[in-house]
Amino acid sequence: MQIVIPAECAGETRVAATPETVKKLVQAGHAVAVQSGAGVASAVPDAVFSEAGAEIVADRATLLGRGDIVLTVREPQAADIAALKAGAILIGQLKPYQNTLLPQLAAQQVSAFAMELLPRTTRAQSMDVLSSQNNLGGYRAVLLATQYYPRMMPMMMTAAGTVKPARVLILGVGVAGLQAIATAKRLGAVVEAFDVRPSTKEQVESLGAKFVEVPMTDEEKAASDGVYAREMSDDYKRRQGELVDKHARAADIIITTALIPGKPAPKLLSAATIAGMKAGSVIIDMAAEAGGNGEGTRPGEVCQTDNGVYLVGTTNLPGLVAADASALYAKNLLTFLNLMFGKDGAFQLNLEDDLLAATLVTHQGQVRFGQS
Ligand code: NAD
Repeated sequence: MQIVIPAECAGETRVAATPETVKKLVQAGHAVAVQSGAGVASAVPDAVFSEAGAEIVADRATLLGRGDIVLTVREPQAADIAALKAGAILIGQLKPYQNTLLPQLAAQQVSAFAMELLPRTTRAQSMDVLSSQNNLGGYRAVLLATQYYPRMMPMMMTAAGTVKPARVLILGVGVAGLQAIATAKRLGAVVEAFDVRPSTKEQVESLGAKFVEVPMTDEEKAASDGVYAREMSDDYKRRQGELVDKHARAADIIITTALIPGKPAPKLLSAATIAGMKAGSVIIDMAAEAGGNGEGTRPGEVCQTDNGVYLVGTTNLPGLVAADASALYAKNLLTFLNLMFGKDGAFQLNLEDDLLAATLVTHQGQVRFGQS
């Protein structure tokens, strides 16, 4: 089949294939075409894609129109969708909850797979783009914090005096939060973390950090201990707000990662809490793209509050380590794509496969996402 990889739009540095995955696709008998320049921001020049067996195509619409299978990092825009051929397969992070172009994809007879919808099961782990990308994002968030933080991370005892270690608070302990804890610990910080899911306590403690615990009723515990967090009651939010406020005021760096699929990010840091933080402290709001965990976060911007707190709304942290992020993402996609081919190499879209069924958002002219 003809597999095509377009360049991503402005602001996205990653690419959906690497020389390694191109080689594997070519070995499997596919023809691969990559848009000229697609890999540049991920440190893959056209010549390297070419050596791996890809054809380099300059014209974007021509490339998209040829694809039986189109691999992307981000959701395509209307003009790109119009260029896709009927029956094409599109695989990428398609933002299913916000994407208003799913009807256009369906009308274009595209079978589109949104990788964010992959179930978080053991079998899906090697294809789990949220995990591979947020893991890198959590690491990069800590390094980003050190860029704004005007002090040291580790304790240092010098002849000129002792430097105190930074106090880092992580809000939301999923994949990104766990990696942020581990990274901040490695840099010598004193780390605390909080999550609404009680099962995260053990994970936090196993990384040597302290778990900040909001007292919960048995009913609240049962309701919040699923794979994904749910929106909590107003009473819980009040108790959580009070505790987070206390720990935030003592923190030097806060990294927030809290997300609820399909919902705006929960607000965990109120304007009053941020106003009570120390001058020079830093908040990295990894949920900025989903509205932010901090009141006043501006996606894509860095601002300093009147009391001297840096509020960092930089988005796409995996894109700051684009070469590695692309390598992991491309491998996730390759493994996922293999689900569509039988042992004999023949294409078969088996919708009995739970991973394909869960991620397929448009098919045979219909929008499937949100219909069941
Ligand atoms: P996510 O990005 O959806 O959310 C980040 C974290 O924010 C989550 O831990 C969530 O509980 C937390 N959160 C949400 N609302 C909050 C609030 N009000 N206050 C504090 N914290 C809040 O999470 P993720 O990293 O994608 O992980 C989601 C789930 O998937 C987790 O249960 C994780 O263990 C699981 N997971 C499983 C696998 C696997 O087994 N294959 C792989 C990766 C993740």
